[in-house]
Amino acid sequence: MSEQEIHPEIVEQRVYDLSRIGQVGETGVTRTVYSPEWVAAQDQLESWMQAAGLETRRDAVGNLWGVAKGTEPGPSIVSGSHVDSQAPGGRFDGALGIIAALTATEALLKQHGQPRRTIEVVSLCEEEGSRFSTAGFWGSRAILGLISPEDLATTNSFDGETIGEVMRGIGLDPTRIPDAKRVDIDIFIELHIEQGPVLELKRMPVGIVTAITGYRHYVVEVSGWANHAGAFPMKYRRDPMAAAAEMITGVIQNAIDMGEPAVTTVGRLAIEPNYPAIIPERVTFMIDARHPDPALREQLYEQHEKLVYEIADRRRLNVDLHINRDLAPRPCDPGIVDLLDQAATDLDIPHMRLTSGAVHDTQRFAQIAQTAMIFVQSKAGRSHTPEEFTSTEHATLGIKVLTESLRRLAY
Ligand SMILES: [Zn+2]
Repeated sequence: MSEQEIHPEIVEQRVYDLSRIGQVGETGVTRTVYSPEWVAAQDQLESWMQAAGLETRRDAVGNLWGVAKGTEPGPSIVSGSHVDSQAPGGRFDGALGIIAALTATEALLKQHGQPRRTIEVVSLCEEEGSRFSTAGFWGSRAILGLISPEDLATTNSFDGETIGEVMRGIGLDPTRIPDAKRVDIDIFIELHIEQGPVLELKRMPVGIVTAITGYRHYVVEVSGWANHAGAFPMKYRRDPMAAAAEMITGVIQNAIDMGEPAVTTVGRLAIEPNYPAIIPERVTFMIDARHPDPALREQLYEQHEKLVYEIADRRRLNVDLHINRDLAPRPCDPGIVDLLDQAATDLDIPHMRLTSGAVHDTQRFAQIAQTAMIFVQSKAGRSHTPEEFTSTEHATLGIKVLTESLRRLAY
């Protein structure tokens, strides 16, 4: 097996150059969808794609595609990630996956010429929901044909603009969104930073993802009686704060008791009224609960719901618990997972299998294609922050696994 040449200095330079577009501070990046920085980043990537010998095009939502046409007809093998960022995020989330796909395909074209099967590099327009809270996965949703006219009306930016008017502002026609749909993608492979500490803790540069977590967001609203903090005796109170505290501790403990990779987070809490000398009337919080295994996920949710109702009942409080987001977990394709694993083994690149606790575009593509992911180490597990860091060495090892895997699939 001839190993494909991936030059670390080119990888590093591309990460650096892309991070200058929307740069915040030393290492931060703010590149929200359809912003001037986003436009500039897609232009930069397009010129790199063209220089690498790829034929480029933009679809109706602004996803950028670079195509290396195969000698045989048939559906495509696609690799890439998202170009948008948190506000601010770091240099690697999303960006590294596009650079990886581009660098891998460029190396293959250079060393082996035209592939047998078509390879496409994609820079997806939006994944993070960092400008329009409900736009999340806008790029992959368009490719799957999952954006409805209603979504266009209800997807508003934090500044109050509709996504349709923002699209028009940069020359995209929202009525053409259905044209972005693809039915000819056979395989989708995404390289991404891990965004967690597992690879670093295990001293592994590369991870092969076996499944991507499913998640659910619950909104829990506990209501009781607002009263004077001094005059009202403890035993007569109906205090939603005491209940919320018990519920929050309880759901977190449920995830601990279930064991890894179950996780549960309460990251948002609203208290009404929010004053030191009033027993609150209402406490609202959100539970984010995740598990990559479909059956265990259901079990975790059942435990959470049971606990919330039991505590509200015992404390004589009203509780309203509803689900406002739910995404099913997606196992990666076992055949592609094996192929990535074997490629890493044959290249002598230390690697391990793991599940993804973050959601990714790959999850969406799983509805239409065989999918898999390659993770590279995130320093201290940090991401969605300018502190996010992946070494060039680890990034390059991940790209080598991707390149070899694409070679085995497409040549
Ligand atoms: Zn990402």
